[in-house]
Amino acid sequence: MQSFLPQFKLSPRLTCVSLIWLFSTMASQGFCQQQPATQFRPLSVPALKKTIKQLKPINKLLGEPQPGQWLAQQKESGQSFSEYLRSRPLTLTANRHTLYVQPIGNFNPSQREIIQLSSEYLSIYFSCPVKILSTKSEDEIPATAKRIHPSWGNQQLLTSYLLEKQLAPNLPQDAFALIAFTASDLWPGDGWNFVFGFASFRERVGVWSLSRFGDPASDPESFRRCLERTCKLATHETGHMFSIKHCTRYACNMQGSNSLAESDSQPTHLCPECHAKIIFATQADPIKRINKLISFSQKHGLNREINFLQEAREILDD
Ligand SMILES: [Zn+2]
Ligand SMILES: [Zn+2]
Repeated sequence: MQSFLPQFKLSPRLTCVSLIWLFSTMASQGFCQQQPATQFRPLSVPALKKTIKQLKPINKLLGEPQPGQWLAQQKESGQSFSEYLRSRPLTLTANRHTLYVQPIGNFNPSQREIIQLSSEYLSIYFSCPVKILSTKSEDEIPATAKRIHPSWGNQQLLTSYLLEKQLAPNLPQDAFALIAFTASDLWPGDGWNFVFGFASFRERVGVWSLSRFGDPASDPESFRRCLERTCKLATHETGHMFSIKHCTRYACNMQGSNSLAESDSQPTHLCPECHAKIIFATQADPIKRINKLISFSQKHGLNREINFLQEAREILDD
């Protein structure tokens, strides 16, 4: 089923936490989007550089960051496609080609559907198989890795325990990465109130919580918004696992974010530079990928993306 050529073998030594608010004192199912290699010849680096020039006109350059936004607080230099190539990025290979999703906790039926759909979206976005593992119970997590938040009274799970004890030791051999979704809120340790997610890019594992994305069971718009947020978070963080740094030039899914409101204001699509990185890392057919993203977005109400994707398809299909 796999047709990826091995490329680079170095693991990036990145450890990044994004979409974090710091308030305190300070395999049962699968999706396969991969096409046989005979149907498509991966784009060369010069061809990818050409797509960057072609797509530039439909992308929005970022202005000065507003107070409170990520780039107002973080000094980041960004990463061009050329800089990405020089960093010897982690890519899909013949041996590491599948994304695994591990649900942890008690999800209501709507949340289970969100995980299912987000996994499908990941599979399209990264043009690789995604397998959803059997749900793990929170009962397996020891009391030392759980707490009730002292002010809010909600259940929280300790991210370091989940990453080090539950995910890293269980990384499947053919996994490009293993990501977990939790029903409960997350916290990374003393001094923190909560995090949306946490990842170890060196270990290729990450964990993200659905608990702050609204209750998708309450009404159709809440479901749509929760799906959009989950898809955005999962693809942003998985993008980091492909060695992509934060985007500082364009409105792009790889922008850093300081809050849910800031993240909501950002697109789920990629800018021309980050798009080239993902196509390089996954060896995907950009037109097929965009067609599938359009179909998914139309079917599930990710309406903000549709116009951009249709314009991008027109440009790339020329
Ligand atoms: Zn990030
Ligand atoms: Zn970008």
